[in-house]
Amino acid sequence: MKPTVVISACLDGFAYRYNGFSVNDEIVDRIKSLFNLVHVCPEVGIGLGVPRKTIKLQKVKNSIRAIQDETGIDLTDELEKFAKNFLNELGQVHGFILKAKSPSCGVGSAKVYYKDNPYGKSYGIFAGIVNEHFPFIPMIDEGRLRNKQMMWEFLTKVFMFYRFTEAKKSINDLIEFHSKHKYLIMSLSQKHLKMLGKIIASHDGKNFESVVQKYDEIFKDLMMKNFRKSNIANVLIHIFGHFSENLSGREKSHFLKMVQKYREDKLELSGLVEILRSYALRFEDEYILGQYFLEPFPDAG
Ligand code: SF4
Repeated sequence: MKPTVVISACLDGFAYRYNGFSVNDEIVDRIKSLFNLVHVCPEVGIGLGVPRKTIKLQKVKNSIRAIQDETGIDLTDELEKFAKNFLNELGQVHGFILKAKSPSCGVGSAKVYYKDNPYGKSYGIFAGIVNEHFPFIPMIDEGRLRNKQMMWEFLTKVFMFYRFTEAKKSINDLIEFHSKHKYLIMSLSQKHLKMLGKIIASHDGKNFESVVQKYDEIFKDLMMKNFRKSNIANVLIHIFGHFSENLSGREKSHFLKMVQKYREDKLELSGLVEILRSYALRFEDEYILGQYFLEPFPDAG
């Protein structure tokens, strides 16, 4: 079983771009085996051919419209209708990988024009509707995937969300999910960790559906938070606390120096995680070894 991710069809070999080409992207190619992919092409979906006349986002009064360059035809309503129908028919999905800069698929990166002059950037029409309906589902474009940190955040959230949807089957699954995600949740928000922890701690005697519903609400809110370096550094120190009393003073100060370097962007997170994994193995700490913080998503190879 894998998470389900919607992908712009042109990023996965479909020659659907306005110019009749697809897009080759090394990173998308590398990570796509981690997912069950659902392909979408909003422009082909509304019946535009390939190749086709280009579309631009234009600011018209207070709204942003998708207008076909040569003909002046406004395609916004059709693209919005397609997006809403597509999302209504979509089953459970855990993420979106969309084409950067496209007036339909761009994730905040599509150029907007005002009277044919550059005006700013916005979501493409399809991506905008996705964001409106599913603000808690991770969404990224292939441009941002090139940034290591953004890719880590995206993959981490997709897999967190996927494991959560799988854990909604029974209270035991939900308790296990919560326990194994403690440090990932803490990396996003200490406040949400407390709220979710309370729901789990007081589940006894309550109807399972109502427990899941409450957890779901707060978890979705959590998914809209960003991972913050300061939170992650605190998590590293928390996990380190499991082993520190068995370590020498020199080992302790070495680790704390490394965390400081991480805070200052001089060291990558993966190096610190590997040190913690080594300690967990050495001290046979199964609780820490079971934490998804150490391995939030499978290796894409
Ligand atoms: S960017 Fe979106 S609309 Fe354009 S070809 Fe790709 S999938 Fe289709």
